[in-house]
Amino acid sequence: MAFDFDLFVIGAGSGGVRASRISAQYGARVAVAEDLYLGGTCVNVGCVPKKLFVYASEFSQSFHSATGFGWNVGDSSFTWETLRDNKTEEISRLNGIYGTMLDRAGVTTINGFASIVDPHTVKVGDKTYSAERILIATGGWPNKPSFPGAEHTITSNDIFSLKSWPKSVLVHGGGYIAVEFAGIFDGLGCDTELLYRKELFLRGFDKEVREFVAKQMSLRDLRLSFNTDIQSIEKLDDGRLKVTLVSNDGETSERLVDAVFTAIGRKPKTSGLGLDTCGVEVDAKGYIKVNDGFQTNVPSIFALGDVVGRMELTPVALAEGMALAKHWFDGQPLKVGYDNIPTAVFCQPNIGTVGLSEEQAKERGINIQVFASEFRAMKNTLSGSQERTLMKLIVDASNDKVIGAHMVGPDAGEIIQGLAIAIKAGASKADFDETIGIHPTSAEEFVTMREPRS
Ligand code: FAD
Ligand code: NDP
Repeated sequence: MAFDFDLFVIGAGSGGVRASRISAQYGARVAVAEDLYLGGTCVNVGCVPKKLFVYASEFSQSFHSATGFGWNVGDSSFTWETLRDNKTEEISRLNGIYGTMLDRAGVTTINGFASIVDPHTVKVGDKTYSAERILIATGGWPNKPSFPGAEHTITSNDIFSLKSWPKSVLVHGGGYIAVEFAGIFDGLGCDTELLYRKELFLRGFDKEVREFVAKQMSLRDLRLSFNTDIQSIEKLDDGRLKVTLVSNDGETSERLVDAVFTAIGRKPKTSGLGLDTCGVEVDAKGYIKVNDGFQTNVPSIFALGDVVGRMELTPVALAEGMALAKHWFDGQPLKVGYDNIPTAVFCQPNIGTVGLSEEQAKERGINIQVFASEFRAMKNTLSGSQERTLMKLIVDASNDKVIGAHMVGPDAGEIIQGLAIAIKAGASKADFDETIGIHPTSAEEFVTMREPRS
């Protein structure tokens, strides 16, 4: 049977664009449908605008630090509309680049919401297209809480285009987005409080890292309230929000704020996609079930990225899209390595991490040595900031291999990216020790930790 396309991709986000573009470059006839924005979550309401906001928020601390170095920076003030509109202009530029990239690769871009009609047919608006393979790359969407008044909360989808910047905010959640945005709000002048329902945020990260970050964040103006959740929100006539909090021991308290920013995880975006019609199986949380080849139970339908819920990170979606394109249209073996995926949380100070945490290594029964160093970075001597840096290596004592590296401190993401290559390549602690440091840097501490702490 002759199909309109060899590959029809639904969703032009991180994974979808990569799979479409590379497949077309190998000569495949490819279409991609997108109903909101080229580049997907990462470019439009995720990584990119978030990082721009992180940069914006770091200036307040820098202005403060500058005085210790002899600078008189005078009065400073923040204008939300300037940041918002400059960010929007930059994102429009990136949207254009994505469009051009797809066009140049020969991909047919179709604007509109796509749904699957049968295993080889996709419908967009009133048109249908046939394809040998359909790839679902529809990403995710923020979860909304269910307490009374939850409709007054805002999410990461709203924050980048607010009409006005709040003066006070409650951040609800304890994952990547909540912790990153607590730093953004605080740095951009909001009276900020982060609420997390259990005893310590950032579940899944190394415990010492989590405790250290909490301590460093608390040195700033923002407040961290653990073991606390929201019971209800009432919108007052003046537009402010009266928020009732409840602690885990049942005590209630109230806050009056301009905004409640909720970041309690994301769900796969599959509504209206036609999965039921074609019998595509999903798991209990709604993520599309795929095998190692990203194939669903319907042989011609595949899925990747956030919608399959493995690791919800842009470089993972990119790697999956790349691997599929190379496999299908260049005959290469299908290979995505999920071990040792480095990650950063752009909170302030940053977290960078790769490999196993101390707890994960112990749970796996590995006999480990832990090397750790904690210090006040040189910049903070004259700046007067009390903020400290943590570096930590987890070593498998049986073969001297470094199996985890963790950092909390400025540019942790930048530093850990390099260490991730070494760890992926199987570097031993002896290799770290033989590497000569770059002086004076914070990063050199990773090659000078000689004595195990435990
Ligand atoms: P997406 O990028 O979400 O793309 C899916 C696309 O499909 C969207 O454009 C959507 O509009 C489209 N679509 C959905 N349904 C349909 C349909 N039926 N028809 C047509 N089009 C459809 N990751 C990092 O690695 N680093 C970060 O710093 C980082 N920061 C983040 C910050 C925030 C606030 C958020 C929310 C996420 C962040 N992420 C980060 C995660 C990252 O954005 C995602 O992992 C990544 O975008 C997933 O790519 P994807 O291709 O699976 O989906
Ligand atoms: P996460 O899954 O990281 O965190 C969700 C948080 O919300 C957890 O602390 C969770 O608590 C809490 N939570 C869940 N349900 C509720 C509820 N009903 N009430 C109160 N709290 C609740 O999700 P995010 O939304 O922060 O981010 C989504 C994903 O996006 C991340 O997991 C990550 O993959 C990606 N991302 C990556 C970034 C990066 O690479 N720098 C930045 C931003 C996002 P508990 O721990 O108790 O379950």
